[in-house]
Amino acid sequence: MIKSGTPFFPTTLPIGTIGDLLAGCTAMLQSEGVVDAQREAREIVAAVLDVPKFWAAANAVADATPQVARSVIRAAMKRAGGMPLAYAVGRASFRHLTLNVDERVLIPRVETEVLVDRVLERCTPKTRTIADIGTGSGAIALSLAFEGEFDRVLATDVSLDAVNVAAANAASLSEGLKSPVEFRSGSLLAPLRGEKLDAIVCNPPYISFAEITELPADVRDWEPSLALLCAQGGLSVTRELVAQAPDGLVRGGFLALEVDTVRAGTVAEMIAVDGRYSEIEVLLDLTGRERFVFALRV
Ligand code: SAM
Ligand code: GLN
Repeated sequence: MIKSGTPFFPTTLPIGTIGDLLAGCTAMLQSEGVVDAQREAREIVAAVLDVPKFWAAANAVADATPQVARSVIRAAMKRAGGMPLAYAVGRASFRHLTLNVDERVLIPRVETEVLVDRVLERCTPKTRTIADIGTGSGAIALSLAFEGEFDRVLATDVSLDAVNVAAANAASLSEGLKSPVEFRSGSLLAPLRGEKLDAIVCNPPYISFAEITELPADVRDWEPSLALLCAQGGLSVTRELVAQAPDGLVRGGFLALEVDTVRAGTVAEMIAVDGRYSEIEVLLDLTGRERFVFALRV
């Protein structure tokens, strides 16, 4: 797939129904090498209309208004030009939420949904203040605030762009949130100096610069490098957070990290040698890979 260029769209076809729109978008996506073109065309229609993914197939004879047709075609053209689907439609699903996303933030991943599960399981009535470091779209912080009752959810990011995206997501979801969320910009725990945290959750960048070439093109060419890559073989941000977290956590508070599967053991060891943590655990994702490391502040 190519990143730029003018994808083909059969504009001469009459776009009368949802079925016509689907067929046109499928053809455009196919012509640009999108593998599962029909499914993606359905997903684009679903995202634009805010309906379930099966809706377009079940409503092929319904009229497509010119406005809907324009929005769907615009998104399909972006996708055909190589843009990831979530950026092309401007939205991504994460647990119970639909988040607005664009190229300023990482598209939240399914593994991170599991991280939130493990964190919620670990929380007790004593977990009153919880921090999400490197919040990106706000996926973790907003899910915690939507599903859990905390006094405060504090979310930070070194990228001001990300903080802006996350804060806008919080504003549009505010009615459904059970806990208040605050966003601050700055590196790691610097914006939370003086806070006493019962838990710190983080999905840091953890891919090394040497691994850039191994990333799929739609990740490498579109998602922010600051969200994906870091120094010291992909461990610099994790290492710095492991060093800073004990000063922010209360005794008995926990640190929950998403890690790359090849680095899970190294991260667990790094936490063990710090000396200020106990009960270090490596947890698995839904496919059985080591993807999370949890530890208690002693
Ligand atoms: N939490 C979001 C999620 O799970 O979808 C985004 C995670 S993304 C892998 C990592 C995030 O950490 C990015 O938003 C990036 O801007 C941020 N980040 C990178 N270095 C950071 C640092 N030193 N301090 C705070 N945030 C940082
Ligand atoms: N797991 C993401 C990917 O597949 C990267 C997220 C991260 O670096 N934390 O690209």
